[in-house]
Amino acid sequence: MKIEEGVALARLTTIGTGGAARAFARPSSLPELERALAWAAERGLPVAVVGLGSNVLAADDGVDSLVLRLVGELAAVRVEGEQLRAGGGATNAVCLHHARTAGLGGFEFACAIPGTAGGGVWMNAGAYGSDWSGILLRVRVITVDGDGWVTPAELGLSYRHSELHHGQVVAEVEYGLARRDVEAIKARVAELVAQRKATQPTNRRTFGSVFKNPQHELGAGRMLEACGLKGYRIGGAVVSPMHANFIENAGGATTANALAVMAEARRRARERFGVDLRHEVELLGPISVE
Ligand SMILES: Cc1cc2nc3c(=O)[nH]c(=O)nc-3n(C[C@H](O)[C@H](O)[C@H](O)COP(=O)(O)OP(=O)(O)OC[C@H]3O[C@@H](n4cnc5c(N)ncnc54)[C@H](O)[C@@H]3O)c2cc1C
Repeated sequence: MKIEEGVALARLTTIGTGGAARAFARPSSLPELERALAWAAERGLPVAVVGLGSNVLAADDGVDSLVLRLVGELAAVRVEGEQLRAGGGATNAVCLHHARTAGLGGFEFACAIPGTAGGGVWMNAGAYGSDWSGILLRVRVITVDGDGWVTPAELGLSYRHSELHHGQVVAEVEYGLARRDVEAIKARVAELVAQRKATQPTNRRTFGSVFKNPQHELGAGRMLEACGLKGYRIGGAVVSPMHANFIENAGGATTANALAVMAEARRRARERFGVDLRHEVELLGPISVE
């Protein structure tokens, strides 16, 4: 396993912004992951994992951490009875493929979530009324101090939130699924993907939903649309003309551009609706949303 310097996070995030990671490695087995964590600890460097980077905004000036992307055995998937065991770096697309081939249902809701098992756990990702908390059996978490399995209850999962913190690496995930007819799985996935394409900018560079839905009759998207934000642009960051809770990289966007758009969105939502929107996207590095 090589530890590289100066790898641009813009290459590792779906929005395509972000400066360099102080150090970057792709561990492909548990011993490699443990070595990487020890390497960082010896240097006093924080550790952050990036899955598909589909929910991440990284600082333009770079991130003073060891950034990891899990590959190889740590991204492998296998089916055992009605359980799907996935490495923390396994993509949802590959998990869904294995589940469908084995005639296991329950994971269809994740078909349009472009992330990994680890990112899903961290975010308690979800869609169409289901989320990770509903399918997780247990999760293997590795830190520099050890290795252990935790239950969904111990992860403190709630709406797009877990109690995990950087330095805790989701190395393996066990999903509990149920027997389902393969054709029924395919039909449900096709229906959800079509629904997605009709309502969200799936062919643009984004990081998914910008803000969590507030406790309000309007979701974040409708609220920001009512604030006149569709098409609002700073630099290369544009509020999607299709769905106001997405920011697109229209070319040359920086993280600072996206954060400035988010600050304006928050300002308008507060002014018009008295609502303090909370961001769903994870921030890496010394950055914040005003
Ligand atoms: C077009 C689009 C549509 C989307 N739709 C949805 C949706 O419907 N529902 C939804 O919930 N989200 C959605 N998202 C957001 C995103 O895909 C999910 O949050 C996804 O679960 C993130 O997974 P990831 O592997 O890309 O994680 P990343 O974005 O890489 O990371 C997210 C967080 O998880 C941490 N993390 C990632 N992997 C690990 C690991 N192995 N161990 C420890 N920590 C880890 C990271 O450090 C970071 O804090 C969408 C994004 C896009 C671009």
